[in-house]
Amino acid sequence: MAHSVTLIPGDGIGPELTEATRRALESTGVQFDWDVQHAGSDVMDQFGGNPLPDQVLESIERNGVALKGPITTPIGTGFRSVNVTLRKTLDLYGQVRPCKSYEGVRSRYENVDLIVVREATEDLYAGIEFEQGSEDALELIDWLARHAGNVRPDSGISIKPISIHGTRRIFEFAFDYARKNGRHKVTAVHKANIMKFSDGLWLHVAREVAEGHSGIEFDDRIVDNLCMQLVQRPEEYDVLVLPNLYGDIISDLCAGLVGGLGLAPGANFGTKAAVFEPTHGSAPKYAGQNKANPMAMMLSGVLMLRHLDETDAADRLEVAIAEVIAEGKSVTYDMKPARDDPTAVGTSQVADAIAEKLGAPVW
Ligand code: NAD
Repeated sequence: MAHSVTLIPGDGIGPELTEATRRALESTGVQFDWDVQHAGSDVMDQFGGNPLPDQVLESIERNGVALKGPITTPIGTGFRSVNVTLRKTLDLYGQVRPCKSYEGVRSRYENVDLIVVREATEDLYAGIEFEQGSEDALELIDWLARHAGNVRPDSGISIKPISIHGTRRIFEFAFDYARKNGRHKVTAVHKANIMKFSDGLWLHVAREVAEGHSGIEFDDRIVDNLCMQLVQRPEEYDVLVLPNLYGDIISDLCAGLVGGLGLAPGANFGTKAAVFEPTHGSAPKYAGQNKANPMAMMLSGVLMLRHLDETDAADRLEVAIAEVIAEGKSVTYDMKPARDDPTAVGTSQVADAIAEKLGAPVW
């Protein structure tokens, strides 16, 4: 039976990567019934200025599974991030970003195998912000002066909420993920020494949850110390659990350990749906050039196959990607020693090579 999956091509390099990934997934022989839905700035005029039309959310809720290309967010001005809104609206609280070394990848590190678990609904990403000079910002600054301390009157303010509920469920999720995936250690990451009431609460709840999971080792690290340790000894870590903002930053750092953003997949899990998407963004400067690396999105497709219990297809697709990497012929510019290497191939040629490995016809 075909799996019904919402397919969101996104913008920038998204549509090319989505097409390549769709081909790779279909080359496994698994049947999909794709429900293609568009979101982002390119479609907002059609939907009354809304970059995330209701039908996109309805489709994801109906199918329970989506594969999504990256979507551009204007910096500083314009609409709120479609990605953040999607995660908040569907309560996709558990973001999983595996970072794994594949043989043949140019990297300073070998044998890295980390899972970044990021809480994706709270923290400074919650979208609770007060614009500099606004009436609300001035009222809040006035209130803070009476209750907490002086904030300069010309400040903009972003609020960092961390709850017991949000923290408990992300650690329960992380321990559960660790057990199901044969991982041995969970590390809680924080800055509890400075932010005692937000990160301090996070650490306190993490320790409580860890007590209920004695089969899995547990420790914690302050986020700045973790950054240094990750670049010195990444092999000492297994599953890292982070609040939203640190999770965003550390997952890019970990992507750098395994060869870059072109190889970093991701998944967002919630109670109602799971959305699979690469860690990277829409890289607008490469849009439409058949240049970007589709492997991060294809590896997100591997995570989706596992979620759909298509374990054999997931294994075969991952092996096909690993073989193409190891051969080093049909890979994009970012996986070559020099960025202008003339032997680099394009996005669609990577899809051809992977389809061929899987025994599917090449167009
Ligand atoms: P980016 O990840 O889009 O690109 C940064 C750089 O990484 C690119 O210039 C390119 O050199 C490289 N890169 C990224 N993906 C690559 C790929 N598949 N193959 C080869 N090289 C690749 O980050 P950015 O420039 O900070 O963000 C661009 C836009 O994407 C922004 O609007 C941002 O908000 C958005 N974004 C979206 C998502 C998402 O949809 N989930 C995630 C991150 C960023």
